[in-house]
Amino acid sequence: MKITNALNLPQPFVDAATGDHRHVDKRYGATAILNGTREAILQRRHDDEITGDVADMVWAIFGTAVHGILEQGSESSSQIKENKLVVDLPNGYQLSGVFDLYDDATGTVTDYKTASVWKIKFGCREDWKPKAGTGQFDDWRKQTLIYCWMLRQIGFDARRGEIVALLKDHSKTKAKFNKHPPLPVWQIGWDFAAEDFAAIEAWIMEKFEEIDRCEQLPDEELPLCTEAERWARAGKYAVMKPGRKSAIRLYDSEEDAQARAEREGKGCYVQHRPGIDPKCMDYCSACEFCTYWQQAYGKEA
Ligand code: SF4
Repeated sequence: MKITNALNLPQPFVDAATGDHRHVDKRYGATAILNGTREAILQRRHDDEITGDVADMVWAIFGTAVHGILEQGSESSSQIKENKLVVDLPNGYQLSGVFDLYDDATGTVTDYKTASVWKIKFGCREDWKPKAGTGQFDDWRKQTLIYCWMLRQIGFDARRGEIVALLKDHSKTKAKFNKHPPLPVWQIGWDFAAEDFAAIEAWIMEKFEEIDRCEQLPDEELPLCTEAERWARAGKYAVMKPGRKSAIRLYDSEEDAQARAEREGKGCYVQHRPGIDPKCMDYCSACEFCTYWQQAYGKEA
């Protein structure tokens, strides 16, 4: 990635944003494969052309700084810190990953995250315990499961994943009214069973088969990232009342919205709100090379 510095921030910011990451042929990281195959390949293929500004990368720098500080702490005799693993796969590719902490006494892989309070709010009940069925923490679960699977490949009995999330936009005042979690740090964990390891192994093999099939394809023929990978939010039908800015209610179906508007009367009408892909819009560094983004969100769209 080419780094720009529009605000002329001090050089250490530029150095931190530049990092020393280099792509290695036929090797993909655990975090890269959690993205869509199209995104993973476009990022690698266009690495020299993708531009990012230091000012836009401060949260990534903050995350790196947090990892750096926590890495300096001392570990117990059963703990291993910040270790890079590389696992050979049957199709000639390699999976790499760097976990933050592994405790062999409990078989637990811990990963530190700098996250927004919103990530926690969307996935929790009022008591700040995870709410079932939201899928809000599936990415974190999958990442720690991959690390456990990798550790198991080299003989460790890794069987639990944990995330320690540092909430960068936490407000003490909001926490007093239970609008934010009580503290600026939040934890979640999962115990993994044999079927979880079988499922993730099958998923990893399939993912690398797909990468192998797709690496030679031109950009426009790469399989489109799935809705989940694009964090897609479906379009809605809003029932609107004249003179009021916000919707009376949002509906998934146009028919339901029309019926409600008719029941309300008083000039109520239905407004279609198109679906969006937040990942494509704001969080995919390869978006300018993606035909889907060009058509949906590019300058011509
Ligand atoms: S812009 Fe969206 S669809 Fe295209 S590569 Fe990025 S995440 Fe995938």
